[in-house]
Amino acid sequence: MRRNIIRFTAGGHPCNSCGLFNRTRKIVEILSQVLTRNGRDKALETLQRVYGYDAFRGQQAGIIDHVIAGGDALVLMPTGGGKSLCFQIPALVRPGIAVVVSPLIALMRDQVDALRQVGVNAAYLNSSLDWRDAAEVERQVAQGELDLIYVAPERLVTPRFLELLERSRVCLFALDEAHCVSQWGHDFRPEYLQLSILHERFPTVPRVALTATADEQTRADIQARLNLGDAKVFIDSFDRPNITYRVVPKQEPRRQLWSFIQTHHAEDAGIVYCLSRAKVDDTAAWLAAQGRDVVPYHAGLDAQTREANQDRFIKGEGVIVVATVAFGMGIDKPNVRFVAHVDLPKSMEAYYQETGRAGRDGLPADAWMAYGLSDVVAMRQMLESSEAPAEVKRVEKHKLEALIGFCETAECRRQVLLNYFGEVLPAPCGNCDTCLEPVETFDGSIVAQKALAAVYRTGQMFGTGHLIDVLRGTVTEKITKFNHDQIKTFGVGSDMTKQEWGSVYRQLVAAGFLKVDHEGYGALHLTQAAGPVLKGQQGIRLRRDNQAAVKKSLRAQRGAKGGAPAALSPADDDLWHKLRACRMELARSQGVPPYVIFHDSTLLEIVRVKPRDAWRLGQLPGVGTSKLERYGDAFLEVVKRHG
Ligand code: ADP
Ligand code: ZN
Repeated sequence: MRRNIIRFTAGGHPCNSCGLFNRTRKIVEILSQVLTRNGRDKALETLQRVYGYDAFRGQQAGIIDHVIAGGDALVLMPTGGGKSLCFQIPALVRPGIAVVVSPLIALMRDQVDALRQVGVNAAYLNSSLDWRDAAEVERQVAQGELDLIYVAPERLVTPRFLELLERSRVCLFALDEAHCVSQWGHDFRPEYLQLSILHERFPTVPRVALTATADEQTRADIQARLNLGDAKVFIDSFDRPNITYRVVPKQEPRRQLWSFIQTHHAEDAGIVYCLSRAKVDDTAAWLAAQGRDVVPYHAGLDAQTREANQDRFIKGEGVIVVATVAFGMGIDKPNVRFVAHVDLPKSMEAYYQETGRAGRDGLPADAWMAYGLSDVVAMRQMLESSEAPAEVKRVEKHKLEALIGFCETAECRRQVLLNYFGEVLPAPCGNCDTCLEPVETFDGSIVAQKALAAVYRTGQMFGTGHLIDVLRGTVTEKITKFNHDQIKTFGVGSDMTKQEWGSVYRQLVAAGFLKVDHEGYGALHLTQAAGPVLKGQQGIRLRRDNQAAVKKSLRAQRGAKGGAPAALSPADDDLWHKLRACRMELARSQGVPPYVIFHDSTLLEIVRVKPRDAWRLGQLPGVGTSKLERYGDAFLEVVKRHG
């Protein structure tokens, strides 16, 4: 069909004013519309039959049309946005095999497991296969038995594999996690640079590069290094509306963390991020002692332990992983219900990436962080002592300061976050702490003056604990020793609590009026910027940390159960647990993660609808033909027995 059109066009009369040319053009247009519609119909039919979903989301339809028609595309979509379908559906609609490049073994395995569950012929090739299995996969490629092959970049560019592809009919290259090609990004993989040869070796095969990294620098790198200058760029909104963002002032981080988990996620899977390996081990042991199923993850563990822990998190229900930043890329688990930070991440980008691992399935999820003065100090110090070139440090500093600003804001957090990525959210979101429990700000000029004066009059040699004692007029041994009860500032702040002064100092450090001396045991120094504030020439607004919220964050609400990501009646909650148990049994027997059987969202629909027959079950989102056939009876039986 396509060949016919080309011949028709070529044979058309070249004269613009001639009716024949116009008629020919019209026919070509109609035919190409028919082709597109054909592709679109097939794509939608595939979405419904194979995946059991009703409609495309966001820009999926446009991207899929474009790729099916043979165009190159660069897709920027947030985590959970639905990138996989953007290449999987073209792979199923276009004749031939699609080659998917993916940097991580675990990710490949997961995606292939999920595809097989929906009845698609997919396989992967990477270093985890022994030579016999690898040879079998290569045979399947050569015989044209597969719709999709996932392959590690270093494997793809071997002469042997490229020759194999040249002998096969390749319909598409998908370059997943395409930001790995960028040195600017956090996951640079030199092997990705070699992928530019695909365009030279297979000039007619469409390529689609996908990433959830939003910044311009990375995007430009992807376009340049992967030879994608002419690709159509699709940028989706980076908002994750189902994530509730919360930042609580850090007071007793462990208790606050536990209260958050116990109150909201008593049965849920989640990730707790810590800065250091030691803290990961401590926190994991402590949470385990509270009775949760917990695994640690950091680069100090041997590869085998790391893999086993990750596997337990992915294949279990309600497992918490406590981890450093080493954990997360390629984790596709859709029902991570919370991501908690007990330490500040290193940049706004890192925060967005890490919190983005919550709620891929679109159901409500939490991003929770405990933040305090010590975080600001630790992260700034880490940056200052880094040996990176000055230019890199400058950029990193900007990214860290943006995150500190996000923590300190009294405005809608989502607006601040999206704004950082160049997106405007016209109204406050209604789903972050500052929207849900608005934060007051007040004229902090006098308070700031007092706090800065205490630093000045004690000789810029003390940390916040002592300074707060001075302000509040608390007589301690240290106060007496240094005669600080004799100075003018002693006791001028007795009307405020320790926590309130702590909050003021944190904000003054965050805003750059004070600096913490790392050699001098955390002594505070005035910066140049402090002068005008100290002299009363410059006003300053401060945020009144919501002390009630902090107190609440210290108390676990007993009796709150968590579990199902929606409030269910006791009877429905019971059915939900039975369905989860059925799913776990099916998953265990195949050694796959439970969510590749059905997502939580599908189980919740089963709870809501209580289907009595296969037809009704087949109508629910996430139930395609293959899964209906495999699992329909088992789940219908659970519903029936539940009554
Ligand atoms: P990404 O790779 O962008 O992080 P995924 O491709 O893993 O996102 O998709 C996120 C989740 O959304 C998956 O659970 C997927 O099944 C689901 N999903 C994707 N597209 C649709 C759609 N059109 N309708 C319903 N669910 C979808
Ligand atoms: Zn908000």
